Amino acid sequence: MTTDTAPSNEVGAAKEAGAQATPSNKPSAGAANEASTQAATSNKPRVVIVGGGVAALETALALAQLAPERAAVTLLAPNTDFAYRPLAVREPFAYAPAHRYPLRRIASDAGAELLSEKLSWIDPANQTIHTESDAAIAYDMLVLATGARVTARYTHAATIDDRRLDETLHGLIQDVEGGYVHSIAFVAPGRMAWPLPLYELALMTAGRAYDMGVELATTIVSPEDSPMAIFGATASEAVAQLLERSQIQTINSAYAEVPSAGTLRINPGDRELRVDRVVALPELYGPCVRGIPLAEHGFIRVDPHGRVLDVEHVYAAGDATDFAVKHGGVGSQQADAVAESIAALLGAPVTPAPFHPVIRGMLLTGEQPLYLTARITGGQGFSSEVSATPTWSPPSKISSRYLAPYLDGLDRERGDVNAQLTPAAGSAPAKSASARAATTSGSSSAMKWPESSRNSRLMSSAQVRQSPRLR
Ligand SMILES: Cc1cc2nc3c(=O)[nH]c(=O)nc-3n(C[C@H](O)[C@H](O)[C@H](O)COP(=O)(O)OP(=O)(O)OC[C@H]3O[C@@H](n4cnc5c(N)ncnc54)[C@H](O)[C@@H]3O)c2cc1C
Repeated sequence: MTTDTAPSNEVGAAKEAGAQATPSNKPSAGAANEASTQAATSNKPRVVIVGGGVAALETALALAQLAPERAAVTLLAPNTDFAYRPLAVREPFAYAPAHRYPLRRIASDAGAELLSEKLSWIDPANQTIHTESDAAIAYDMLVLATGARVTARYTHAATIDDRRLDETLHGLIQDVEGGYVHSIAFVAPGRMAWPLPLYELALMTAGRAYDMGVELATTIVSPEDSPMAIFGATASEAVAQLLERSQIQTINSAYAEVPSAGTLRINPGDRELRVDRVVALPELYGPCVRGIPLAEHGFIRVDPHGRVLDVEHVYAAGDATDFAVKHGGVGSQQADAVAESIAALLGAPVTPAPFHPVIRGMLLTGEQPLYLTARITGGQGFSSEVSATPTWSPPSKISSRYLAPYLDGLDRERGDVNAQLTPAAGSAPAKSASARAATTSGSSSAMKWPESSRNSRLMSSAQVRQSPRLR
């Protein structure tokens, strides 16, 4: 079983076990064809990163910084673009689609080769992965960042899925604007998926109804003890007050079933709530990768350095792991821990730090965003802070050490400083979903955020209450 080795020992171990950091020359197993990759012909150790999302790209970019030229890195992903998932929540409100970045460019900038393939199964004994096209790829170190599987929990609800959010909710927002829908419940099933989008959609929908002068009863039903509880007490209190001012009712510590269209059964208490429409978060399941032991619901079990338990040379990061909080910023920190461990094994002068998650969330409200931060310990948020101005840089929806500044650079290169959503885009004037032709990707003028003192940036609940729409 893989143990949680102290960081300094790991560096030492890496030096001692020099053989681990050289190419393994493992034969490809079974009848599969050896994939003709550049890495396969390199004499450097082979690092294979599976996935083309936040955690995979953060790992690749971190490795490029921490251990440049020390490994032949392959990125294996079926997608050609990296989609900026958090901004999908704005699509039903007639904003431009969430931005996409070409994966080939990112891989190239990270010094990695890109294989447009899908992992099928892993043969850890032979340090080989097999793809869906039956190719075999040998690895010295493998990183699994395949994300979670999204599953609709309720038949009679519109499920939040960023791949088709506009298609799913655009009609609903039009119906709100037209005054045909008078009540909506936003529901989180038993296990929380991502913490932000449910609240963002509720706030933006209530805001749109307000802007259009339409009466709308909005309710959030969630198993959390308080709104966005993972961000800790201070942030949760501020969000609760914001929801109250937005006249959004919240029912917390509650589990809902949706037995028929427009009917919610809420427990404990066996209460019934009738609404015109129900919007729900999905349930997330792990990727169920064949060849490695899995935790409950198919997630991958990792230690604080991102090493997969009971399997040598295999790491995992992001939504695919059994860490309870599914969040891009948190997955990035897992990816950093993985990259540091691998960089040390490659002989780079790095002391791997274990994963001590800090969650940072830019909550879209329909007005100015709120910036929420907490340290996560034992599945709970501590040292909670809330601010009306960014407390991290760049002030992107997905905060990460390497990916966010890298994407910021790409955005500036394209002259689109708002693709990761700076505050300028957050405050863009509301447009009716019916007026779709007039969509915009936000202002193109660069916003500069002066470095003010931390205290002056922290927002009091009283300040949160001053939002004009919310009065
Ligand atoms: C609507 C919405 C809003 C959100 N808002 C925020 C926010 O504001 N801030 C924040 O930090 N997080 C937010 N999140 C959460 C964040 O997007 C996820 O936590 C993050 O995308 C997880 O990253 P990941 O790399 O682990 O997985 P994913 O982003 O799911 O990427 C997984 C990658 O693996 C690839 N893959 C899958 N299977 C295979 C396979 N078999 N072989 C090879 N490749 C494979 C996929 O194609 C994909 O490229 C939001 C999520 C949603 C849906």
